[in-house]
Amino acid sequence: MANKLDQVKQILNSPTPILVTASNGFSISEGVNIFQNNADFQKILGDLVPKYHFNSILSAISYPYNNLLDAWQVWARLINYFIGNYQISPQMKYLKQLLKDKDYLIATSNGEYHFNLAGFNDESILATEGDWGTLQCFGEHDNRRLIRSLPIAQKIVDAENKDQLNSDLLPKCEICGNVLLPHLPFNSQYINPVQSQNTFSKFLNSAISMHKPLTVLELGVGQNHPNLRKPIFDMMRSATQVNYIIINRDHIVVPNSIEKQTTELAGNIEDILCELTLPNTNKS
Ligand SMILES: [Zn+2]
Repeated sequence: MANKLDQVKQILNSPTPILVTASNGFSISEGVNIFQNNADFQKILGDLVPKYHFNSILSAISYPYNNLLDAWQVWARLINYFIGNYQISPQMKYLKQLLKDKDYLIATSNGEYHFNLAGFNDESILATEGDWGTLQCFGEHDNRRLIRSLPIAQKIVDAENKDQLNSDLLPKCEICGNVLLPHLPFNSQYINPVQSQNTFSKFLNSAISMHKPLTVLELGVGQNHPNLRKPIFDMMRSATQVNYIIINRDHIVVPNSIEKQTTELAGNIEDILCELTLPNTNKS
């Protein structure tokens, strides 16, 4: 492990651009687990379980609510809790240190907006499955934009706490009057993050067509995560100069064709990122 760590440190210390991919494992390491009926779920939504019979944040997010007020009651609580209460975690601090002064992009399927809240540039974050940190109108018209969700969520939660929840509180589009919803790919009116998508493509294309160096740093991405892994594997088939670093609690199987370019550091994400920010153990 020490040798592997030193190798990875060397790779990360070079001026090579870094493409970070992060998924559920990273969220879980930060204490956000949308899959479990855990203490957070009970604290945020426990009183609504008898009404909806959901058993995790994920099932609450995907529940087919009868009306937008019911949906917003849940969204407001989730946004208020996970975005309003967020404090930058140690693993985020280590990651910031590793990416400092680097050309980087963070592609993440995590919706809770924590990379943005931790201070990474919005343009350097590609939320591949949308985010709850911003809202959008899903009406069919031009000039739609993303607005921050937290102030609205806080207002709705405050009203609910005073027993004053009502539809007038719901955020409306200033152009068409539709109720705004979290920036998630509900349908084709989803606002694509064009700038960060372009950066993602630029990183992959320059590695493939110009054989430019690139480091992929994968943080807590599950074994079967096509959005975040397939484009990387496809790129690496013709870009043999790319280094692929996997940090995961569990062992991740990669295709034989890219094994040589891959270094896997299995264990606790926070601990490993911490180690990587420390000086090399080998004196050279
Ligand atoms: Zn609209």
